[in-house]
Amino acid sequence: MKVDLAVLGAGPAGANAALAAAGHGLSVAVIDENAAAGGQVWRAPAPSVTRDDADARDGAALREKLRISTVEHLDSATAWLIARDDAWRVDVARHGRSETVTADALVIATGAHERVMPFPGWTLPGVIGLAAATILLKANGVLPGQRTVVAGCGPLLSLVAASILKAGGTVAAVVDLASRAEWLGALPALAARPDLLARGALWRARIAAARVPVFHRHTVIRAEGTERLGAVRLGRVDAEGRLVPGAPEVAIAADALAIGHGLVPDTAATRLLRLRHRYDAASGWVAARDGTLAGSVARLWLAGEVGGIGGAAVAALQGRLAGLAAAQALGRSAAAAEAAQLQAGIARAGRAAAAMSWMMRPRPAMAGGITPETIVCRCEDVPRAAIEAAIAAGARDLNQVKQWTRCGMGPCQGRMCGEAAASLLAPHVGGRENVAPWTGRPPLRPVSADDLLGDFDYADIPIPAPAPP
Ligand SMILES: Cc1cc2nc3c(=O)[nH]c(=O)nc-3n(C[C@H](O)[C@H](O)[C@H](O)COP(=O)(O)OP(=O)(O)OC[C@H]3O[C@@H](n4cnc5c(N)ncnc54)[C@H](O)[C@@H]3O)c2cc1C
Repeated sequence: MKVDLAVLGAGPAGANAALAAAGHGLSVAVIDENAAAGGQVWRAPAPSVTRDDADARDGAALREKLRISTVEHLDSATAWLIARDDAWRVDVARHGRSETVTADALVIATGAHERVMPFPGWTLPGVIGLAAATILLKANGVLPGQRTVVAGCGPLLSLVAASILKAGGTVAAVVDLASRAEWLGALPALAARPDLLARGALWRARIAAARVPVFHRHTVIRAEGTERLGAVRLGRVDAEGRLVPGAPEVAIAADALAIGHGLVPDTAATRLLRLRHRYDAASGWVAARDGTLAGSVARLWLAGEVGGIGGAAVAALQGRLAGLAAAQALGRSAAAAEAAQLQAGIARAGRAAAAMSWMMRPRPAMAGGITPETIVCRCEDVPRAAIEAAIAAGARDLNQVKQWTRCGMGPCQGRMCGEAAASLLAPHVGGRENVAPWTGRPPLRPVSADDLLGDFDYADIPIPAPAPP
């Protein structure tokens, strides 16, 4: 398929980029691995699930706009390779075969994935990611368990706890790394987003009404159980996430723990393209972009959380801006006034986004809770002790740790363990900002050999006639 603009990711950023560019006359293909557009926050519910909340309505509206537009939506399409010579080339695995999309311009809007800092027992059945819990609830209408502890940091804590309660579940406790004072300090930044303030207040009211105990400045020390989770043990921490010595521990009976320590920009595609990246104290390593969202090579724009955690509203505005910029670069006359309006909207929403992203940041001492035998890389079963041994033997970057231990070499390609491995390396190289992410390599996502071969049939290979005797 050949188009003017290819967009990778159909979340708020990517879908809006596609719609804006198509509105200015570009032929556009938007590629996403999910069956329906919406990305993480506006994820479509399964047909059997009925939802009526703001995210569900926003998602439905976006999907309708895409449906009636000229945008070609390649759903259930996993991009596994991106390259560039004269034009951009995106190879996608879809419906059992691989196809190539070529385009004059590219928007990368791959969003984020979640960060869970390992702790003893985190691989027990019953322990899931906090952001993963939103998928269970939103897409499938399924509760994480009968009695769930919700733990970690950032606004997803209240969202998940309130959603479980709304769905009729029980929340055994909310365990927040942040203090009450930190939350109060973040409130003024939300003044420009009364919608977010109102939502947050509603979630808090629901949690209070259900008399759920909320432990501020606490962390999960251990998930306990043999075959599966039976209890969650908590301890008090300081502002850096370090356990306070001698503080009493609390054990809470639970069959589910939804835990997350913020979000990590999904830079697999931008690293594969060897784009410029920069370190941001709240979001970590992000793909670098200028004020028009242009990346560090020509005819490429970066929209949404791939360039920094900022929430759905900012992602949607950035998407539109990137779509307009692509249209302009390809010779369409996009109104400068609209771009200026979008820039202003991004700046307005940006303060609230920065405050929430700061509440989600990893605390610098959190890796101290990873015991030597705790598995860090779940795909390859690599414990902390193996990573420490590699560091002691001289490994000084993530690629060396990977080659030494296989940490980050499994199917998730370091999405789950990368942040923890980087935190373990950080003190040995002068800080987290000195630990660059792994080198990006294809395939971007696991892809089966069958998908790559497509309709190829071994029996179709022309067999030359046998040589004459
Ligand atoms: C699991 C999860 C759940 C979240 N839930 C919420 C929530 O409930 N409420 C909230 O306010 N915020 C939530 N967030 C935060 C959310 O990421 C943002 O606010 C918002 O969705 C960002 O929009 P985006 O367009 O930048 O990225 P996304 O919405 O993440 O969209 C990126 C899209 O790109 C696709 N993609 C990435 N790589 C590839 C590839 N190689 N091939 C094909 N497709 C690809 C992804 O599947 C995704 O659909 C969640 C984040 C995560 C990680």
